[in-house]
Amino acid sequence: MIVPITLYSDEVLHRKALPIEGVDADIEELVGSMFETMYNAPGIGLAAPQVGRSLQLLVVDISCMKEYAGAKPMVVINPRIIASGGGYLAMEEGCLSLPGVQGDVVRPATINLQYRDEHFEERTGEFSGMFARVLQHEIDHLEGRLFVDRLKKREMRRAKKDLDALVSGRFSASYPVASAPVAVAQA
Ligand code: ZN
Repeated sequence: MIVPITLYSDEVLHRKALPIEGVDADIEELVGSMFETMYNAPGIGLAAPQVGRSLQLLVVDISCMKEYAGAKPMVVINPRIIASGGGYLAMEEGCLSLPGVQGDVVRPATINLQYRDEHFEERTGEFSGMFARVLQHEIDHLEGRLFVDRLKKREMRRAKKDLDALVSGRFSASYPVASAPVAVAQA
């Protein structure tokens, strides 16, 4: 099921997500929805808070990129970056929760990751290139951190106008987005 994607001003994107204790039918369904929602947007990564669920879960599929045509879709649960290296790289990032906003983000080139997969099996792996980039972006989401929180001053100045436009509702997205939660009216 394609579900609406939460936007920048949504509080769920700014808090730490809770660890998952096991993969049950609810989590399986959520994973399916997240892939469907990501492919529909289209995007190459999506974290659970972006569909309104504050859980340590993300999905990635970068196989639409030429150099990664053979890459398999990944389900990542309760990730922990245990090491990073390979120097730092700047790369332009965007986010489905911040339509119209882009900026260069500096991140380590390589990460070592400990996580659980879709079967809740414990895994470790070293990731570089686009995998390292997307995984770090999505793991940030689980910490309540967005790529704009990592922009250097000059990059932030460049992104500010688009971010202001987004906050005031002047943006367009080719996929369903969630309206920011408002105070619940009493029935
Ligand atoms: Zn994002």
